Amino acid sequence: MREKTQLNLELSPKITSLQELAKAENECTRCPLYKDATRAVPGEGRKSAHLMLVGEQPGDKEDLSGKPFVGPAGRVLDRALAEAGIPRTEVFVTNAVKHFKHEMRGKRRLHKRPNAYEIERCKIWLDRERAIVKPAAIVALGATGARSLLGRSVTIGKLRGQTLHLADGTAAFVTIHPSWLLRIDDDADKQREYDNFVADLRPAARVLRKEVA
Ligand code: SF4
Repeated sequence: MREKTQLNLELSPKITSLQELAKAENECTRCPLYKDATRAVPGEGRKSAHLMLVGEQPGDKEDLSGKPFVGPAGRVLDRALAEAGIPRTEVFVTNAVKHFKHEMRGKRRLHKRPNAYEIERCKIWLDRERAIVKPAAIVALGATGARSLLGRSVTIGKLRGQTLHLADGTAAFVTIHPSWLLRIDDDADKQREYDNFVADLRPAARVLRKEVA
């Protein structure tokens, strides 16, 4: 399926390095989420990575450490990438929204899903990451990542398993966010959904193998 969304690079035209980009994201005030977060969490990985993963937003541990996917969901992701034959060193990992959206419950900071406005405001940074890294393939992890990448609201179940083609020619895939797997109580269901997640990553692994061959 061919997707129409174009990259918007007009609002960050002079940024050509990941270091500059991280600084600009950290200084961003384009939506209210910067106010209650510790810092922006930029994407992480090599500039020459062939595969980009787009999650939702930093969690509590990511907000504190400044690195994406370092919490429990990150550990699930690492295991699934290894099983799919994708070295983490070949991957640039990022989020659709760069600041941690949460609400206080006592002393705990509980995750809140970013809304359409926040995703849209933050998309310039994902677009700039794509322009700098130029991945051959992108995997959106969950509905927020997919919404930012495709510029529209999507149902994950309808798109997973398909190869999408972005307007700039990049191959794209959509799957669940690994944090969803952590919320499944039944062990058999959890294992089945984990296996489906690994299966969703395998087409991206094939693109990656062609690029590094
Ligand atoms: S979440 Fe994104 S758009 Fe909002 S302030 Fe942070 S970097 Fe800027």
